[in-house]
Amino acid sequence: MNYFKGMIKCSCCGKNYNFKNNNNQYEYICQTRKNYGKSKCNSQIVKEEFLVNIISQHCNILDKDFTMGKLKLFVRFIEVDDNDILIYYKDGTVSKVTPNKIVF
Ligand SMILES: [Zn+2]
Repeated sequence: MNYFKGMIKCSCCGKNYNFKNNNNQYEYICQTRKNYGKSKCNSQIVKEEFLVNIISQHCNILDKDFTMGKLKLFVRFIEVDDNDILIYYKDGTVSKVTPNKIVF
């Protein structure tokens, strides 16, 4: 299920991320990368499970009860590029995933 529809934006090319069912691994990929390949946009592919894990840990730390049904109550939008993932929450907090470190 495309839970993150319209919520993930590519910081490299500005397009939205598209949902992709890759052998029952739910992923999101930049529209440019999906249509024209990695040479046109090198933004990373993100697994849904990975995003859910970060968001749920973030909410846990803030003592908020997260379920997928509440996703849009908590998350404003997500930005992804070839290195980082930034998850912006409605309360102004941000989760930051870099190649070396995750700040929940
Ligand atoms: Zn892109």
